[in-house]
Amino acid sequence: MEEETFPEGKTVYRLHKTKERNARLIDKRKKQAIERDGSLKCEACGFDFEETYGSVGKNYLEGHHIIPLSETKEPYEAKIEDIVLVCSNCHRMLHRKRPWLTVDQLHNLLKK
Ligand SMILES: [Zn+2]
Ligand SMILES: [Zn+2]
Repeated sequence: MEEETFPEGKTVYRLHKTKERNARLIDKRKKQAIERDGSLKCEACGFDFEETYGSVGKNYLEGHHIIPLSETKEPYEAKIEDIVLVCSNCHRMLHRKRPWLTVDQLHNLLKK
């Protein structure tokens, strides 16, 4: 029986415009959350990277811009409220549909 193979590793060049994301903004947003809640938990599902992964997960959460940067033509001044902090799974799910789900919508979809 012949084994089916899947070629991988071919280099694909993608041309794509990326907009600069302001890491300082996300850092500030994280600090604010830690000050407020004493820990960093996903705002959709409550996942805490440090709780699960120990020190390697400390201070880890992803910043999701609620205003799609791909839709902003001019550089705009993002505010701290434009960022929600979510775990990697929730972040992927937020981007799965267009228009993007909101954190509240995602939270309500979660099966307990
Ligand atoms: Zn999450
Ligand atoms: Zn995002």
